[in-house]
Amino acid sequence: MTRKQKKLLVRILIALAGVILLNLLPLSGVSRLLAFLAVYILIGYDILRKAFLGARGGRLFDESFLMTVATLGAFALAIYEKSGDYNEALAVLLFYQTGELFQSIAVGKSRKSITALLDIRPAVAYVERDGARVAVDPETVAVGTEITVATGERIPIDGILLSGEGLLDTSALSGESMPRRVTAGEEVLSGCINQGGLLRVATCRRFTDSAASRILELAQNASSRKSRAEKFITRFARVYTPAVCAAALALAVLPPLVLWLWRGELAFAAWIYRALTFLVISCPCALVISIPLTFFAGIGCASRHGILVKGSGYLEALAAVRTVALDKTGTLTEGRFALTDILYAKRPREELLYYAAHAECGSHHPIALGLCEAYGGEVSLLRVENAAETGGKGVTALVDGVPVAVGSAALMAELGIEAPAPPESGTAVHIAVDGVYAGLALIRDSLKPTAKAAVEALSLSGICTVMLTGDGESAARETASALSLTSYQSGLLPEDKVTAVEALLEESKRGERVAFVGDGINDAPVLARADVGIAMGALGSDAAIEAADVVLTDDDPLKLARAMRISKRCIRIVKQNIVFSLAVKLACLALVSLGLADMWAGILADVGVMVAAVLNAVRALKLPKKY
Ligand code: ADP
Ligand code: MG
Repeated sequence: MTRKQKKLLVRILIALAGVILLNLLPLSGVSRLLAFLAVYILIGYDILRKAFLGARGGRLFDESFLMTVATLGAFALAIYEKSGDYNEALAVLLFYQTGELFQSIAVGKSRKSITALLDIRPAVAYVERDGARVAVDPETVAVGTEITVATGERIPIDGILLSGEGLLDTSALSGESMPRRVTAGEEVLSGCINQGGLLRVATCRRFTDSAASRILELAQNASSRKSRAEKFITRFARVYTPAVCAAALALAVLPPLVLWLWRGELAFAAWIYRALTFLVISCPCALVISIPLTFFAGIGCASRHGILVKGSGYLEALAAVRTVALDKTGTLTEGRFALTDILYAKRPREELLYYAAHAECGSHHPIALGLCEAYGGEVSLLRVENAAETGGKGVTALVDGVPVAVGSAALMAELGIEAPAPPESGTAVHIAVDGVYAGLALIRDSLKPTAKAAVEALSLSGICTVMLTGDGESAARETASALSLTSYQSGLLPEDKVTAVEALLEESKRGERVAFVGDGINDAPVLARADVGIAMGALGSDAAIEAADVVLTDDDPLKLARAMRISKRCIRIVKQNIVFSLAVKLACLALVSLGLADMWAGILADVGVMVAAVLNAVRALKLPKKY
């Protein structure tokens, strides 16, 4: 409990004792009124103050205002009726404050525990000084420093493994329990736990830019991008509270007026009491509190399982996705190309690969990496000049002063070089040397092991899968039929993918969303254009993290289905809370208007609904059973 919460608890207890005592003491008249008022001020002074400040600031209709009007009204009624029964007003405030206390503890606790679950940053990093391991503040570690990570420790900062091999538990980043093997030269991300031997790592980012810090930041800032449900509640409260006040006023005035004119009956006090009770019950606090909490819990749940959602709005959109557009290379396939054949070669194989690998030396595209691997020899940057890459087409460069072009048929057409038709299967990479067609490298990528299951899971939920690829027709057709995709489009440049997604957006019905899933290479513009841009395995790539709305921390397409399940459950809980609390609220309001419930019952129902809604919200933190 925080100090503020403790203070409130003490006030509640003293006020409770005060009420009991005052009911036992034989006080009457003005002294009784003053004694009760003293307790009233003790338990309610902050509410009175808030109501007063709110009214002065023009914000007439918040819950403090409702509480103040209702309880002061109850006092006034008791004075008017000379009943001396001031318990009602005090009871309302006591319950209300108890509810506030509970809610502040519950909400604070769940927020804290969610944040703690996400905080996978170790407090120290170890560097070696004079042969000893020294703990330092990771924030002070400069890029390029050598740090050591012992068995069982978390890697504090992203870096490159310097020597040997390591076994990493990556579950904090990806949600996967299978340990991953890394070898010297590979990048290791912060947040992973070292499971074997001492690791020597040269840091390649600062602590604050490292994966673990970024994950935490993304999850914590997520609530700033509001969902429609949250915006709905804000708008709702703006209309709802004045409406309730008007209804209460009508309830206080109209029925007794009619009764008086019609039968000459004087029933003003009873109806004013009903109106005041009506005000007490009308507070929409359960909604205002539980909805943001549900989204926070849902986003927390997703982060823990390798899905970073940048805002509750995107979590909401995920649940409404009916069409998923997917990139091929690196998303459905491994993105590791192996050379299978060389066709139409006008030069020796070695020479062709030499030119291709050198022209590709500046590219990070999977095709570039595949060609360099196929070449196998040393690639010297000194031999390459004017290297340029056109996204979705290929590269051009001067290798040893000779112009070389490597890429798609479109690239060849652009350069005015005639290319032969590619074979039926595999990805064709055309190579031109010195302005003349020189050969075709046929390369092959393999499907990710979970790609089929991922597409199946999406289809089962009634979601259309559309592959948008820059690769040629034959490779695209092969992949699409192997995975039973709904449809595909091939030969797309990055800007064509944007057009294709725009067409999908155009076709989709109201309330349905279109997601695009890519690996972040060549597809940042589409990621940004789709309703939900999902980047895969992109913790290392800043551009993709920037452009995407959802980041899947590893390369597993099955995470897509999981992300949608989590989002759907979260939305279901939000809806349950809206329906449940509004239903109880309306029922109570009806009972009160008919004179069937008094203030006590009303406030009890109010606190009860809030407790139930908060408990329900926290459920969003657990992973749905089937995912
Ligand atoms: P995908 O949509 O499947 O991820 P890309 O848009 O990344 O594909 O690339 C589309 C096509 O552009 C590739 O199939 C290839 O023909 C060509 N291409 C792109 N970059 C390169 C490169 N660096 N080297 C050779 N070809 C490339
Ligand atoms: Mg790609």
